[in-house]
Amino acid sequence: MDVTGGPRDQSSGAGHGPGAQTDGPSGDYGDPVSEQTQQRTTPAGRRVVVVGAGMAGVQTAVALREQGFTGTVTLIGAEPHPPYDRPPLSKAVLLGKADGAAFDVDFAALGIELRLGEEVRAVRPADHEVDTASGPVPYDALVLATGAEPIRLPGTEDVPGVHLLRTLDDAERLRPVLADQRDVVVVGAGWIGAEFATAAREAGCAVTVVEAADRPLAGALPAEVAAPMTGWYADAGVVLRTHARVARVEPGTVVLDDGTRLPAGAVVVGVGARPATGVLTGSGIALGAHGEIVADDRLRASAPDVHAVGDCASFPSARYGERLLVHHWDNALQGPRTVAADILGEAPVAYDPVPYFWSEQFGRFVQYAGHHAGADTFLWRGDPAGPAWSVCWLRGGRLVALLAVGRPRDLAQGRRLIEAGAAMDPALLADHARPLKAATL
Ligand SMILES: Cc1cc2nc3c(=O)[nH]c(=O)nc-3n(C[C@H](O)[C@H](O)[C@H](O)COP(=O)(O)OP(=O)(O)OC[C@H]3O[C@@H](n4cnc5c(N)ncnc54)[C@H](O)[C@@H]3O)c2cc1C
Repeated sequence: MDVTGGPRDQSSGAGHGPGAQTDGPSGDYGDPVSEQTQQRTTPAGRRVVVVGAGMAGVQTAVALREQGFTGTVTLIGAEPHPPYDRPPLSKAVLLGKADGAAFDVDFAALGIELRLGEEVRAVRPADHEVDTASGPVPYDALVLATGAEPIRLPGTEDVPGVHLLRTLDDAERLRPVLADQRDVVVVGAGWIGAEFATAAREAGCAVTVVEAADRPLAGALPAEVAAPMTGWYADAGVVLRTHARVARVEPGTVVLDDGTRLPAGAVVVGVGARPATGVLTGSGIALGAHGEIVADDRLRASAPDVHAVGDCASFPSARYGERLLVHHWDNALQGPRTVAADILGEAPVAYDPVPYFWSEQFGRFVQYAGHHAGADTFLWRGDPAGPAWSVCWLRGGRLVALLAVGRPRDLAQGRRLIEAGAAMDPALLADHARPLKAATL
């Protein structure tokens, strides 16, 4: 089983998840493993505490060891389960095709102290300590990797049959819903809503998706690009109700604000997620408009010796001229390398990735690279009514973002062209029979 997430762009990132790391430092960690590592080792007594044992936290701990950190590494995670990957939760795990998605990391062999089922309740930067139920934990360097938490529908907290999909426990609670083929109402036609609807249909559930906006993925993609995706729902036998607002949820029924009552053996809420930073209240660590930790280009938070990485943090992107808050797997993979290098006192290049994510929905493999907010032009490659097409966004003639549906080669080439800031010929680019890389000027 691929324990490091779903399919990814093979051009980079693949194979670098935590599961691929066990051939890093040897089991007798602590011994110098190479001359290069020896030069980079740190005082053995230095303590790094990582809060959050999701992808970003685990990857940070592993990257520290890989990069030669010899002090103590303590990874504190609120969830009781061995650290696991989230993308399979809305896919194989939900359908019972996989029991879990635990990372294939030998924490003991890497000398990483795992403290699971333990929540950090406060962060006190002035004292260089975090507080847990079992007492204060001192640090020399602190990494906040607390991820995100799903937004709830107000008033539904105590209604039975209303689900979120963020954790392994959530996925396990949802398995019987699919196995029993209950009627499901999904609130929100975003990435999670679409993936859950896909799995529920595959399991044989009747599925209705209610979306307040006029189209799926309204927060993520422009109307023209999301338009062809609307048909995917009907093709899969899913009823998509746009302009539909939930007034309230009663046990067994979702009531829309126009009075429509939708029977619901289960309700799945997928209306977004916000950074999980409540623990920082009173810490003095600066938060941004979305409650995220405001990090710099080395992923340093505003307090000394504190870094922040993954879904909980935003960073300034010189590439895109704005601060980015990325809630995708690849960011939780890449960011930790910068954090580890910075803790080791190396001078890594600024963290300024080309964001990347994928989604598997309605039998399609959707991939996106870049950031299209500042684009001045977009063009299609292929017929959006067909099974495989791409969209390219340009700014000043250079490729800045790309969405590929069933065209992984476009994604792989596009990602490299975006990295390189390549100038493109729009006419050649629109010719979908031509490789993307053959459309440069
Ligand atoms: C169902 C699902 C499917 C997804 N599918 C895809 C996909 O197909 N493609 C893609 O690119 N991305 C996908 N993502 C997004 C991707 O999984 C996230 O971007 C990634 O998990 C972020 O990693 P993270 O470590 O920053 O945060 P998280 O994975 O959220 O981990 C943070 C951890 O910190 C813990 N924590 C929080 N506060 C505290 C505290 N105070 N003390 C101790 N522990 C704490 C939390 O319990 C959690 O375990 C998906 C997400 C979900 C939920």
